[in-house]
Amino acid sequence: MEQFIVSARKYRPGTFETVVGQTHITHTLRNALKTGQLAHAFLFCGPRGVGKTTCARILAKAVNCLNLTPEGDPCNECASCTAFNDGRSMNIFELDAASNNGVDDIRGLIDRLRFIPQGGSRSVYIIDEVHMLSTAAFNAFLKTLEEPPAHALFILATTEKHKILPTILSRCQKFDFKRIKTEEIIGQMVRIAERENIAYERDALYLIAQKADGGMRDALSIFDQMVNFGNKNVTYAVVLENLSILDHDYFFRATDYMLAKDHAGLLLLLNEVYEKGFDGLSFLQGLIEHLRNLLVAQQAQTLDLLETTETARQKYLMQVKSFSPTLLLNAFHLSLEAESGFRSAMAPRLQLELFLIKLAHLTTAVEVAEKKN
Ligand SMILES: [Zn+2]
Repeated sequence: MEQFIVSARKYRPGTFETVVGQTHITHTLRNALKTGQLAHAFLFCGPRGVGKTTCARILAKAVNCLNLTPEGDPCNECASCTAFNDGRSMNIFELDAASNNGVDDIRGLIDRLRFIPQGGSRSVYIIDEVHMLSTAAFNAFLKTLEEPPAHALFILATTEKHKILPTILSRCQKFDFKRIKTEEIIGQMVRIAERENIAYERDALYLIAQKADGGMRDALSIFDQMVNFGNKNVTYAVVLENLSILDHDYFFRATDYMLAKDHAGLLLLLNEVYEKGFDGLSFLQGLIEHLRNLLVAQQAQTLDLLETTETARQKYLMQVKSFSPTLLLNAFHLSLEAESGFRSAMAPRLQLELFLIKLAHLTTAVEVAEKKN
């Protein structure tokens, strides 16, 4: 039987070229590699799962590559690159400060610095979650960072830049990794699905990317689960059900009822939501996002701010035609007000029902006001 390897690991990029969504960083690093003007220490900052460790490993491989490509990428073929790829290179040392944060752990690293690298030119020390180092460990490390041996290269990674001492910050070249764009995450899932013969619906991949909130590792891990649940067919329905996401259809229906001044329809819809096991707050928040999407769909200039699937986009453009700007703005305002009072409400469901009744009457109120003018 074919062994299952998680996608995030199997498709971990081996070159800067294939890193997704961080071109501002990979471009600079490749230029530095080409010109040989590399700093002694780097600090990679940014949210989890966006490629910090991946880039650190590629950089480690690239500085030791015997045959760097003209673009500044490791060749992945020379003796050094293959040693890296097989996990048997002696020129890389990784310390996860989240679980090894004591002064002895850092001493172990400092002791290794005495050895001159074999075969390659630089020994690379990667310290992940460097902000977790204890004060004593930090101080011990600082001395090394002040006078690093010529053959050493340090790559520090952190999700919490503000916790890094200024004395460390000033000695590193800093790179800020960004959350990866939804479209780029979808692109990567599409590539994997095609390689692995996995069927998918694009809207399903969109939901996964949204849930992952800019993190590739999270997205791929959800993707793997959905491949499993869906039996190699990642459909919109499978993702909705397994991620417990309220289908946007509910919100299109809610706003339709509102436009039709049908408060009974709204109350029954809310009941349906509760019966499906969702809570009132997620319904309210979903509705707010829906109204926000309608607002940006109302004008051509803001249409680009509409982050959604193509199917939903068309629906927004259709539905917004029935809204006057005043009505939409008032509905948005009313929903935000309802949300701010929701958490402290004694009877949240009643509050929500009252809000929905007001929402249904809003259409009439705005019509009356607009006729007067
Ligand atoms: Zn190489």
